[in-house]
Amino acid sequence: MERLQKVIAHAGVASRRKAEQLILGGKVTVNGKVVTELGTKVSNHDRVEVEGIPIEREDKIYLLFYKPRGVISAVSDDRGRKVVTDFFPFVEERIYPVGRLDYDTSGLLLLTNDGEFANLLTHPKFKIEKTYIAKLQGIPPRPVLRQLERGIKLEDGPTAPAKTKVVSIDKKKQKSIVELTIHEGRNRQVRRMFEAIGFPVQKLRRERFAHLNLTGLNAGEFRELTPHEVKQLR
Ligand code: URA
Repeated sequence: MERLQKVIAHAGVASRRKAEQLILGGKVTVNGKVVTELGTKVSNHDRVEVEGIPIEREDKIYLLFYKPRGVISAVSDDRGRKVVTDFFPFVEERIYPVGRLDYDTSGLLLLTNDGEFANLLTHPKFKIEKTYIAKLQGIPPRPVLRQLERGIKLEDGPTAPAKTKVVSIDKKKQKSIVELTIHEGRNRQVRRMFEAIGFPVQKLRRERFAHLNLTGLNAGEFRELTPHEVKQLR
């Protein structure tokens, strides 16, 4: 048995707070009867409807996917390009990506059908750390990288302090590989941050998301999160 607001939030219909408002507002029925009591518990067999629409009570699924480059972080694309869910034709649940990676960025992307979990992980207030490995044109000197560590002005506002680590330098080719850890998730943020210090990104991969990494996976492969990993992220 689970609390009604949790069941509604888990289905991805609304946040838990919004679900409470829906219940209090008389918009939720259980087996055809309006329920306005927040503590109400329901089982898997109870039919829950929100504003007359039955909510889906699918099993929850949590996947860690190594997204290749050249794939859209979406469930469909009107231009017919490859999307992340194309890699999971055998998954019956309606999964979708948690946040997104650019078309040309590879790396760690979670997919789930748990709306509450997805909201939690993408909400800026939880400040989940993400680490990216960037191949750069040029070799940024330390003081320049420190600008990223302090935070840098982008056209949509200053970035929060980031962590940087130089992984390797190729003086002959004038290229470098630098790791950047941020907890924000603005559009093309990593590329824009390096661009802002004058070192454009040639290749980008997300290596870590919170405590998760890509160990054991090649591009295009996935694994399920363990229940323990899911719990740690909540
Ligand atoms: N920052 C970027 O620039 N691209 C991504 O895909 C993710 C973060």
